[in-house]
Amino acid sequence: MKTLSGISVSRDIVIGKALLSPEDNLEIPRYSIAENMVEQELRRFVEAARGAAAELRLLKEDAQGISREQESIFEAHLLMVEDPDFHYKIKARLESKYENIEWIVWEISRELSQKLALSPSAYLRERASDVSDVSRRIINRLLGISRFSLAELSGDVILVAHSLLPSDILAINKSMVKAVAMDTGSRTSHTAILARAFGIPIVLGLSNATREISGGEVLVVDGEDGKVVIDPDRETLKSYEQAMERNRKASGHVHPLKRLPAETLDGWKVVLNANLEMPEETEAALQNGAEGIGLFRSEFLFMTPGQSTEEEQLAAYNKVIGVMGKRPVTIRTVDLGGDKLLPGFQGSGEANPLLGWRAIRFSLSLPEMFKTQLRAILRSSVEGTVKIMFPLISCMEELEDALALLEEAKTECRKNGHGFSEYMEVGTMIEIPSAVILADILSEKSDFFSIGTNDLIQYSLAVDRGNEKVNYLAQPAHPAVLRFLKQTIDAAHRRGIKASLCGELAGDAFMAPLLLGLGLDEFSMASPSIPTVKHVIRRIRFSDCQELAKEALACTACKQTNDLLADWAKKNIKER
Ligand code: PEP
Ligand code: MG
Repeated sequence: MKTLSGISVSRDIVIGKALLSPEDNLEIPRYSIAENMVEQELRRFVEAARGAAAELRLLKEDAQGISREQESIFEAHLLMVEDPDFHYKIKARLESKYENIEWIVWEISRELSQKLALSPSAYLRERASDVSDVSRRIINRLLGISRFSLAELSGDVILVAHSLLPSDILAINKSMVKAVAMDTGSRTSHTAILARAFGIPIVLGLSNATREISGGEVLVVDGEDGKVVIDPDRETLKSYEQAMERNRKASGHVHPLKRLPAETLDGWKVVLNANLEMPEETEAALQNGAEGIGLFRSEFLFMTPGQSTEEEQLAAYNKVIGVMGKRPVTIRTVDLGGDKLLPGFQGSGEANPLLGWRAIRFSLSLPEMFKTQLRAILRSSVEGTVKIMFPLISCMEELEDALALLEEAKTECRKNGHGFSEYMEVGTMIEIPSAVILADILSEKSDFFSIGTNDLIQYSLAVDRGNEKVNYLAQPAHPAVLRFLKQTIDAAHRRGIKASLCGELAGDAFMAPLLLGLGLDEFSMASPSIPTVKHVIRRIRFSDCQELAKEALACTACKQTNDLLADWAKKNIKER
């Protein structure tokens, strides 16, 4: 028996068999070849392409009757693998550059998928992921690597991986993967956020799980303590089984709070909203007592085939609104880039993607694609109470440019005869230190603020939110972070607009009294956290929280603040 320590994302405990994921960050070798090797390299390519086609035919047969969508994906991949134009391009490049065939295939497909990914046509953009997928299949054959796709997993397994992308979580066969154990990542990485949204228990930042686990072992994924136990002895296994049983019985105890307001003992009310990654989560949000949707991360629609045209987006937004009724639904325009790459952008080679072509910067540089989204959001506003917000605003010009495109999208809606609400609120996400500093100015053109602490902490403390090695530095209780929160909330209130917070911090019950004391109006979190946060809010006094906030702002170090919060909780959280 061996225990690995990592970072927990949900409190679930899962016992199952380990399955090691193939390495995703495949290094493609690159070397020059002699002119007389061209023929041989070409033959290797033709053989690999033939093998990939045979593999795809088998997959297509397997998919028959299960899912028409999957079947058609394999059909499209087959067409590409056998496309004479693709073969011609490979041959021409090989004959002009004299480099190994793996590199040539990779280079051509990267160029092709980047071109497609930038296309204004949603259909062509979706083809970008097909090109990447097909080339990966061919290259794996050339390199003699046998891979399996995450979507093809079968049998109940705990997936052990070095690093999964958010798009990998979308591809996972959720009925088979019971939990994930990962070497890299942290609580606020998008992979973690998405895994939680899908209800896949995950322990991250284990550093060397893929070295310690070879596959086939019995694993316990312990989300309560952020641990993975390899080959547990009988006693340990028994105590985990008992804990699972206790959790099963305890789940549901918090539900009686569902219809009660998030109101302190002295009558201060705040709003508790849910974060969504997929429309399918909306029902659960309501069940957990969400008063609205404070953040719909719309980019995941773009990472799923067949969801990104105007009509497809509209249908997705209407699905959420259909469940929420008149409750507010806040749609965040796409935050692509960083760790959420559109298929086909993966090879684009930005040295610092988190400081790069991401979120509003990405949208503003592709105005047609952006306006398609804006029109879909506008049109959805006739069905309910829709709000819109822009991610990663760093200056007033970006906000003004986004607002100008929103006006253009409104004109286009009018021209197309599509109605929308003239009163839709438009918010700004505060996620960059410059936005905090400019909060008084940004508030002039914002109907509300939503503080994205996952990014705000990352950018203000210079801590990559996905890097487990520096995760210990990502401290919400850092004095600089607390000052930033206070400045933002105060700037909003001075302008008479609301301040919401939608980073993972909003769902942290330990921090809730402090956030309340700082004056936060709305919290938006993964919906399973709502009952717990409400439970705390209903047991404290707002006036005590205000005192707590004053004391916390005077602290000079994280530990001091955390000790203060722990002592305060012991004294001030009352039974009710
Ligand atoms: C945040 O940064 O806190 C946020 C809510 O946005 P995301 O996690 O999607 O970057
Ligand atoms: Mg963010």
